Order: sequence, then C-alpha cells, then structure tokens
Amino acid sequence: MLKNDNLYNIENFDDQYIRTIAKRNKLVNDLIEYLPHPCVILDSDFKIIASNSLLRDFFKIYADINNIREILEAFFKEGQFDVFTDWFYIFFKNSAHIRNIILNGTKDNICQKVQLSGNLIPLEDKFYLLLTITDITNSFDETNKLFASNNESLKEALISERRKSEFFLNISHDLRTPINVILGTVQLSELNMRNISGLSVDLMERRVGIIKQNCYRLLKLVNNLIDISRLDVGYKSVELCNFDIVAKVKDIVLSITEYAENRALKLTFSSDADALEIACDTDKLERIMYNLLSNAIKFTRQGGNIDVHISNDNNWVTITVRDNGIGIPKEKIKYIFKRFKQVNADLTSRSGGSGIGLSLVKSLVELLKGSISLDSSPDIGSTFTIKLPNKKLSARSSRKNAKIAEANVKSNLERLKIEFSDI
Ligand code: ADP
Repeated sequence: MLKNDNLYNIENFDDQYIRTIAKRNKLVNDLIEYLPHPCVILDSDFKIIASNSLLRDFFKIYADINNIREILEAFFKEGQFDVFTDWFYIFFKNSAHIRNIILNGTKDNICQKVQLSGNLIPLEDKFYLLLTITDITNSFDETNKLFASNNESLKEALISERRKSEFFLNISHDLRTPINVILGTVQLSELNMRNISGLSVDLMERRVGIIKQNCYRLLKLVNNLIDISRLDVGYKSVELCNFDIVAKVKDIVLSITEYAENRALKLTFSSDADALEIACDTDKLERIMYNLLSNAIKFTRQGGNIDVHISNDNNWVTITVRDNGIGIPKEKIKYIFKRFKQVNADLTSRSGGSGIGLSLVKSLVELLKGSISLDSSPDIGSTFTIKLPNKKLSARSSRKNAKIAEANVKSNLERLKIEFSDI
C-alpha cells in the first residue's frame, strides 16, 4: 500500500488536493500490485513508500512495518548486505547506475539467488527507488545444468574433432604408401623401357603384381570409406534371403586358407549344427567375416590359431572368431568399435589400416538386427562374437530378394584380393 503519510505532510493540503493525490496514489498502488515480481518503493533510508503483496509474501511481512532495512539485513547475510547497500546508495547519487545485480539470500535456511532490479522514480519533488526482486534460484540451476551439459557436448565435439584429425592423418598415410609404391614401380619400368633388353617377363610380372596389390589396398580403403559414408547418409538397404549360414561361413573360411597358411597360422571351422537355414544378407555377411578374419590374421603371430565356430539356440545364431594373437588391452575394448579408432594410433607402431573396419563391421551387424561383442586380453588373444537373428523369411520373399542379391554379388576372388590386400 502506498502510504500517504510517508510521502506528504497531509495536514497542509486542502481537500481537493488530497483527493487528487489519493487518486494518483491508487493508480501507483494498482500498478505495483499487478507487477509480476515482489516489488517495493523505498526512500534512501529504506523507508517503505509502497509495496505489493508478492513482496510481503516473499519476505513474510505480515505486520504493518515502515522500514525494510532489518528484513533485508536478515535476508542478505555475510557480506551480501554490504554489496546490496553499496548498490542501493549509489542509485540515489547517480541515476545512471547498474540497474540489475544478482545476490545470494537465505530464506527458511535455504539459499536463494535473487536478481534485484532498480529504477529511480520521481514522486512529487523527490526521487525514490522502485525495487523489484526476482527469485532466480531454479532458473540459475537450470542455466548451470544447461551450461554443464553444453560443456559436455563441447568436450565430446572436441574429442570427435581430434579423432577425425587423427583419422585424416592415418588415411593420408594409407593413401600415400601404395601410391608411392605404384609410382616407384612405374618409374623403374619406365627406365627399363629405354633399355628394353634388360626387361624380363618375370620382372615385369612381379612389378605388375606389386602395382595390383597396392591398387587393391587403395580400393579397400576407398570401399570402406564409401560404405561408411553411405550408412551415414541413411543408405541402409539389406537384401535378406534364406540360405544355409553354416555352409556359407565354412566357404568363407575355406577361401582364406591360403592367406592363413602363408603366415603359418592354423585356421579351423566348426559348427554345432551341420546345416542351418536363416534369413541373412550374403554380401554383408562376407564383408563382416572377411574383416574379422583379415584382422585375426594380421594380429596373430606365426604358428598361432584362428578358430571360427557356429552355435545356435531358438532365437540367435552365434558366430565366434577366436584368435590367440596379440590381443587388445582392456581399456581399449570399449573404443574398438568406434570410428577412426586404432589401438596403436601412432604412425610408427601401427600395422596399417585406418581404424574404420570394425566400426563398419558393427554397423553392418546392426543392419542385420544382430550384435557384436569382443573379449580380449593382451598376449592371450581376441574373441569376436556375432549374434544374428535365427529367423527365416517366407519362401516367396526370400526368392524375390535372392534375385536382387544375385545382381549385387561381386566376384569372390576379387573381393578377397581387396579385403586381404594389406596382409
Ligand atoms: P584397421 O583398418 O586399422 O585394421 P579396424 O577397425 O579393423 O581397423 O581395427 C582397429 C584396431 O583394432 C586395429 O588397428 C588393431 O589395433 C585392433 N584389432 C582389431 N582386430 C584385432 C585382433 N583380432 N587382434 C588384435 N587387435 C585387433
């Protein structure tokens, strides 16, 4: 309530003037009352000229009081009241003062953050301070939470950026090595061509072999990049058709025997069931298996073992690819299916590869509605376990998809040369 006796010495006014003042004061009172925040009009001695009910509720002012200083002192404890009074007094000296400050208060033993907004207003011949108080405790918490979560996202974005840079560094290295080999071989042949007598068929064949091998390496890299980018932009076609997964995986394993033998590795295949027909995508299954098997060969020392096994229950077909190679440290396992991640990221100790193979494998397995996991220990070996749904399509849908799949089939020999080009 705007208190006339706080503003004027009413005794000196005539009736007409008092009525005019009363009318204007009612307007001010109504205005303050409708403000959406606790609000008070004060003189420079903290004398209350007017206040709204939100302010009285906020400070639990139930009695008729003239001065708010004590209440504010109780609310702003420990140094905060001094900050408040500095801000308050400067207002009356300099109207161009900072209008808003945020302070800590305590109400019912609970800390609160309040924003104080002030504005000098002229009433009659003097200036008074219109003070509004906004409780921002919750929104401050929200802002802090938002800030914290933005901070997390920023951290993740920075990590992802760094991974990308490492990836581009790796990929540049992987592109440069085969290109240099191809260029060197071509340059040598060019020199020999000037002296045709020094060129034997054997030598030429060897050089063409080197060029081809390195072209396959480049193709493997580019194929992986294309596949992963296609998945990223949402190209996720799966051509499911029914086939015997035991026979298919056995074929895949047999087809790489030569690569394993060249490294003196023992490669075995076993299955609980002799045959098991499920709906799967041949092309994707080959990509997955070749990727895991080429890693197993790459990271297992001479004389080591690689075993592929198939088991099944009513819901899942489980394929395990187990090696007794160099293994992967426990702390790296959770990153291994992440894109661009290599266990040995530094260029000197790594064994080639861009670190996208396993992330592609994971995406492909998930496209087939399956899952992949890894169990590994350094110097003991690694076991990759793939679970695929043990489901069949109706004969009609399977036949339809088989036609599309056939059209997409790539020469197995060519695929092998590409997938195993870095072994
Ligand atoms: P890359 O193209 O570099 O081989 P991958 O995603 O296929 O990429 O593999 C990522 C890394 O995981 C490899 O660089 C290697 O360090 C590790 N890795 C994958 N498979 C095996 C394995 N069977 N044994 C040991 N380390 C492996």
